[in-house]
Amino acid sequence: MELLQSHRAEMISIAVALVAIVGGSAYYYYLTRKPKGLLDPDNFKEFKLVKRTQLSHNVANFRFALPTPTSVLGLPIGQHMSCRGKDALGEEVIKPYTPTTLDSDVGYFELVIKMYPQGRMSHHFREMREGDYLAVKGPKGRFKYQPNQVRAFGMIAGGTGITPMFQVTRAILENPDDKTNIHLIYANVTYEDILLKEELDNLASNFPNRFSVYYVLNQPPEGWDGGVGFVSKEMIGARCPAPAPDIQILRCGPPPMNKAMGAHLDDLGYAPTMQFKF
Ligand SMILES: Cc1cc2nc3c(=O)[nH]c(=O)nc-3n(C[C@H](O)[C@H](O)[C@H](O)COP(=O)(O)OP(=O)(O)OC[C@H]3O[C@@H](n4cnc5c(N)ncnc54)[C@H](O)[C@@H]3O)c2cc1C
Repeated sequence: MELLQSHRAEMISIAVALVAIVGGSAYYYYLTRKPKGLLDPDNFKEFKLVKRTQLSHNVANFRFALPTPTSVLGLPIGQHMSCRGKDALGEEVIKPYTPTTLDSDVGYFELVIKMYPQGRMSHHFREMREGDYLAVKGPKGRFKYQPNQVRAFGMIAGGTGITPMFQVTRAILENPDDKTNIHLIYANVTYEDILLKEELDNLASNFPNRFSVYYVLNQPPEGWDGGVGFVSKEMIGARCPAPAPDIQILRCGPPPMNKAMGAHLDDLGYAPTMQFKF
């Protein structure tokens, strides 16, 4: 009988300890969890377009409201989301986009969109008016960023490939604890095609020792003092951090450019772990 009672007491102690551990872990998780974002990786959610600002003849900034002024989108840095729309024939189209805003921009998110005359999703954005809703799903992407995970990033962007670079750059430079340096090479066809130029130039003058941008144009205007033609091995060698275990070169652009840049980086001795393609 005594043995039975002592066994029972032991079982109760174990149960109490288990409840304490599980409860404690749940409370710790509750205290340390990040603010929950609004995106759902499996289901599209609709966000209202509240402001559309034309930036050039084929580029516009789209601001979408989040449900409350303190809501955060919850998109990890450098990741993107799938946006769903209808093309000119009324058929469904889904394409990836990276907001230019961060989770520190509460209550809204923004997309900078270049609209191509024949582009399917471009048609959807061209037709969108303030008050319309956009269906969005995410987050998506393999890029994972922790502050100071590298000493320096080299970035090679083409056209709209600037949006993930811009987002990562902002996140780094706006974090006082992050000391990472960034060297961006940004390629476009004409001067008018350069997206976010004012924002990039402001970052370069506000953080002269941490961030540099080198523009490259296929068709430069007269008096242009930046790069000319396609991004070359020499440009990468001169502008980006040299191969080392604590640097990484990020690239995002049209597929032929990504392929050419991959070959340049291999030739220059950047190991696969030192390269990332969005
Ligand atoms: C991770 C990621 C993030 C992206 N973020 C953005 C973003 O923030 N903003 C943004 O505007 N785009 C972004 N894009 C590109 C976007 O996903 C679409 O590819 C783009 O909007 C064109 O889609 P579309 O359906 O309108 O054109 P499509 O129907 O796919 O193409 C039709 C025609 O448009 C032209 N075209 C399409 N894409 C290009 C291009 N890149 N360069 C030159 N001509 C082209 C071509 O003539 C093509 O034949 C991103 C892409 C990726 C992979």
